[in-house]
Amino acid sequence: MLKSQPRHFRDRLQTPIQYVKGVGPRLAKLLEKKGVLTVEDGLYFLPRCYEDRRLLKKISALRAGEKETGFGEILLSGMVFFQNRKRRVFEVLVGDETGKMTLKWFHGNERYLKERFKKGRKLIFSGEVRWFNYQKEIHHPDVEIVEGDIEEDYLNFKRIVPIYSETEGLYQRTLRRLMKNIVDGYAEELTSRIPEEILERHDLIGFSEAFRRVHFPPDGESLEGLNLHRSDGHRRIIFDEFFFLELGLAVKKRGMALETGLSFRTDGRLAQTLMNQLSFALTRAQEKVLSEIVEDMEKPHPMNRLIQGDVGSGKTIVALLACLRAVECGYQTAIMAPTEVLAEQHYLTIHRWVEPLGVGVALLTSNIKGSERGEIYERIRRGEVRIVIGTHAVIQEQVEFQRLGLAIIDEQHKFGVVQRGLLKKKGGNPDVLVMTATPIPRTLAMTLYGDLDISLIDEMPPGRMPVETKVFPESGRGKVYRIVEEEVKKGRQAFIVYPLVEESEKLDLKDATQMAEHLRKDVFPEFRIGLLHGRMKSNEKEAIMLEFKEGNIQVLVATTVIEVGIDIPNASVMVVEHAERFGLSQLHQLRGRIGRGRFPSKCILLAQYRSSEEARVRLQAMERTNDGFKVAEQDLELRGPGDFFGIRQSGLPDFRVAQLIRDAPILIEARKEAFRLVEEDPALEKPFHRDMREVLVKRWKGRLELATIG
Ligand code: ADP
Ligand code: MG
Repeated sequence: MLKSQPRHFRDRLQTPIQYVKGVGPRLAKLLEKKGVLTVEDGLYFLPRCYEDRRLLKKISALRAGEKETGFGEILLSGMVFFQNRKRRVFEVLVGDETGKMTLKWFHGNERYLKERFKKGRKLIFSGEVRWFNYQKEIHHPDVEIVEGDIEEDYLNFKRIVPIYSETEGLYQRTLRRLMKNIVDGYAEELTSRIPEEILERHDLIGFSEAFRRVHFPPDGESLEGLNLHRSDGHRRIIFDEFFFLELGLAVKKRGMALETGLSFRTDGRLAQTLMNQLSFALTRAQEKVLSEIVEDMEKPHPMNRLIQGDVGSGKTIVALLACLRAVECGYQTAIMAPTEVLAEQHYLTIHRWVEPLGVGVALLTSNIKGSERGEIYERIRRGEVRIVIGTHAVIQEQVEFQRLGLAIIDEQHKFGVVQRGLLKKKGGNPDVLVMTATPIPRTLAMTLYGDLDISLIDEMPPGRMPVETKVFPESGRGKVYRIVEEEVKKGRQAFIVYPLVEESEKLDLKDATQMAEHLRKDVFPEFRIGLLHGRMKSNEKEAIMLEFKEGNIQVLVATTVIEVGIDIPNASVMVVEHAERFGLSQLHQLRGRIGRGRFPSKCILLAQYRSSEEARVRLQAMERTNDGFKVAEQDLELRGPGDFFGIRQSGLPDFRVAQLIRDAPILIEARKEAFRLVEEDPALEKPFHRDMREVLVKRWKGRLELATIG
């Protein structure tokens, strides 16, 4: 086959990977699996870690308890069986002139291992060395088969060697050779366009140089620094990613601050009337946050504020008071919630509070259909509805507001930046308020909500009873039922929560429906049991919620539809079935449904007998603390930031190298610089800054409306 001529791409970095020297169709396919399609992707395909092969140690010199790299010949290899063939280990005996040691694999494909580790082959291996039966061994080492002469091979030996993420059929030697070609041939093309003075201030090296060093570190580099992603090269690349993220956010924020928006001026009489009717006064924290909101609302620019407050801190009333101020000025408001149950719940609370004041409220979810829906649209269009409460349905095209002045998004982490934008478009630049109960570590807040001002409700309403959390094994189920019984007999109510709606034998989960039936018939025949799940119709759900709220239902069996925002002060017990299947934040959200009244409450986590170690740690964390921030930190530690929020869905640029938690100090520096730059040159129009706009457009893939600045 004729190999295609190397074509010339205007932007050489976008050259498809198969045109790089040494890459054929087979290799290109394998690289594609790793997300490497272009030369640029290749440059960003950074080593997973590094190995020090400046000096290769003899086997006798490898120290137990250390992560070491050794070299030797395979003397023997094969599967070894234990305990009547119940356990199997693949073992490779390696040796050099100073000694022997064993490499072990406790799982893995036997045929593949046998094929790879043939007697007589030479092998580089690394991992933690330990002693066993008077011999050194390494479990699941990183290995590389050696071919050719070590003395001549300066790519794979006699240096700090990059280790890439492999896939079957694509091994270190191939990758290294390929990366060498890419780095030598293309690294020069990389530009970052961060102003020189910023680079100098932070001691940052050249961009192309950074990639060269990260792939093939010079001899003097610190192995530890490289492995921690803290080398000068890593720092430079990470700074670049954060800088353009924050620059985009700074531009957005600045753009919004410059836009003209609505200015709500009112003495807040309507809000005051409501407060006079309520049985409680605002906490100091609620007062403070409300005054920050009022200040924003008075300004002739759109508000973009995030309220952060733990579950139960009382965000709803603050939001509603803000709504009433807008209503008083003749505007409509919208409150958008992530689930139907939550929207319904808000509706129930709010319409009871404000309809006596003569304020029209409507509920709009996808379950409301036909003529009823048409009617609501009409009332919204005519401006009769002043507070629209709903789910995604609120941002649908057909919904037309007469005069939307304030848009509120509850439990913001479930929505992305995009939806926030859509809601905003429903009005002539309305004020936007987003609320979340998920405590976000500072660095995450700076990125996900980097374009928002943040208010914190850092205090709970008085008289809250702490929730005691306890993990029970399945064998304790009887005891758990007795606790529920005791509480209900005292006049309290209980939640029993299930992870899934329908029975799935495979997963061995008890189905909520079936369980409700069982509880009704066999366990609590004297109690009124209700069932709530996601597949029910909206009016059914609403009816159940109402009955539970009014105390007609004593034990509510529910799936996680109750996760956010449900407010039943009389509920004092929650039993979470299969607690080991829930994430920490989710458990904390669930637990927030109780302890909302005057009664000491109990959260019972029923865990299955064979939970994983990680699940055990998670459940123990729940027993230890009620503090949402501590829970969030634990969660981040256990899951890492990627999962934590679904940055991908957030509408922000992806990071290829940077990691929010690990690289937090760099993020903070980059943010400072980016915001300072936009302060000085909001439209990025100084000659040297114009280039940065191009990078912004590329990184943000059109999600950033640069039009507002230029
Ligand atoms: P969240 O912040 O989780 O959304 P909610 O707004 O649902 O919390 O409030 C939880 C409960 O606390 C509600 O029943 C609400 O009426 C009540 N509440 C709110 N503020 C106060 C307060 N200052 N004093 C007493 N109860 C309050
Ligand atoms: Mg809430």
